[in-house]
Amino acid sequence: MTSGTRLLLIGPPGAGKGTQASRLASAFGVPTISTGDIFRANVANETQLGLKVKAILDAGEYVPDDITNAIVADRLREPDASAGFLLDGYPRTPEQVAELDRVLAEEHNGLDAVVQLDANTDEVVSRLVKRAEEQGRADDTDEVIRHRLSLYEQQTAPLIEHFAQRGLLVRVDGLGAVDEVTERILSALAEFGVAASR
Ligand code: AMP
Repeated sequence: MTSGTRLLLIGPPGAGKGTQASRLASAFGVPTISTGDIFRANVANETQLGLKVKAILDAGEYVPDDITNAIVADRLREPDASAGFLLDGYPRTPEQVAELDRVLAEEHNGLDAVVQLDANTDEVVSRLVKRAEEQGRADDTDEVIRHRLSLYEQQTAPLIEHFAQRGLLVRVDGLGAVDEVTERILSALAEFGVAASR
């Protein structure tokens, strides 16, 4: 087993995961691994993977587990992830949870905590609509936003209970100023016994 902190950030689209992920990763001195960012970079660069997943992302569907799992497994085997990581947007399905556990077990590692970033639906929809205006993300249209939220409710929200049963869940209210939410997460983690290094 190697040292370092292994964290997941889970929550509905629009809860502020991306923003908090980079702040937490720097507080813990670990890389952020965001499957959404990896897919978007591949789409932008028109790689083979990008061409394969573009329509899926545009429609707000989940990329198939075999593709997503292979990408994360490769990324976790890169040297910088051996001292910990913060996963943002993965796992999103039970199959992805199983694969993550399997990859970590290979290195005799496990997760330290799963941070649930809570936000109500009205708030996340209005954040996503605002982001659409600011960033022009193809998957931030009204219809696709609604679909992404319902996929989250059906497929990903049930994982929260799974992690709670494993005694890994740290639940944090995602509403409020960005700094305030970061502090809230860091103190909830510290209380849980997972302290930031910097
Ligand atoms: P995100 O930035 O996390 O909201 O992800 C953007 C999009 O990338 C999602 O709507 C999915 O199409 C795809 N995606 C990201 N992570 C995953 C995942 N773990 N499983 C399946 N699809 C994913």
